[in-house]
This record gives sequence, structure tokens and C-alpha cells, in this order.
Amino acid sequence: MSDPAKSLGPVWSSVHGEKLSPSPLADILSRFDKDHYATLDIHPGWTNLILKLHQLLIFISPNYTIMQIKTKFGSLRYYAKFVPKDSDLTQETSKEIFDCLIRYYEYLSTITCETCGSWGSLTSLNNLYYTSCEKHSDTPPKDWLKL
Ligand SMILES: [Zn+2]
Repeated sequence: MSDPAKSLGPVWSSVHGEKLSPSPLADILSRFDKDHYATLDIHPGWTNLILKLHQLLIFISPNYTIMQIKTKFGSLRYYAKFVPKDSDLTQETSKEIFDCLIRYYEYLSTITCETCGSWGSLTSLNNLYYTSCEKHSDTPPKDWLKL
């Protein structure tokens, strides 16, 4: 069987290989719209996922805003609003790409351990659903992402 991590290629290695600077977390928090409490309700294993997604989203929509970022049934929910660039002549396409990127990273979260960030799958214990690697399958993620 081929290694699924390898078939994901550069995206996987960029999420799981390089250590991204955590300082963009402050930028993510500053984008919450005023009607929503700015908090990242996810576990540390997904830090690189949201940092990488954020890097891609600001490339397409530098002023995008966020309503909520959380984990639900072991997968990432990233609720964000596309704000078009004035100079963008293909806004509809840009919005589609924006939404696709979010869907894609929400998918990546379903194969990324919430505790340590390595390869994982959906696990359940006492009706609690979370994504974990083999090592963390018996221990639901406890610590929330520290800001
Ligand atoms: Zn793990």
C-alpha cells in the first residue's frame, strides 16, 4: 500500500515538515469580526494546518475575516468570509478558490492527529470523537491551543 502522506505531496510536507512561526496566530485572532469572540478552539496538533491555511487565504483575500475556528467531531471548522481585493477582476473565481482551500484544509484535519500533528484518523472513545495517531488513540486531546 502506498503511503497516503506521500500522495499528498508538498501540501502534506508543508503542513507536517517545516515548523511555521506561531506569530501569525496573532494575525488570525485580529481577523475575527466584531460579533464573534476571538478564540481558537482547537488542539495544538492542528497549529500548522491553520497557519498554512491562513497563509494561503491572505494571498487570495488579504482582508478576509473570521467568524469561528473550532473542532467538531474530530474535524476542523474554519468559518471565514472572503473579502475581494479591489484589483481582483476574477472575484468569483477567487471566492471559489478561497472556499475550496478551507474545505481542503478541513479535510486535512481529518487525517491529522489533534494532539501531535502526525498522520491520524477519526477515533472515538466514550462518545467523544477526535482525530489521532496510533500513539494518541487512547487519550483524547486535552490541552487547547495556547495563544
Ligand atoms: Zn498523535
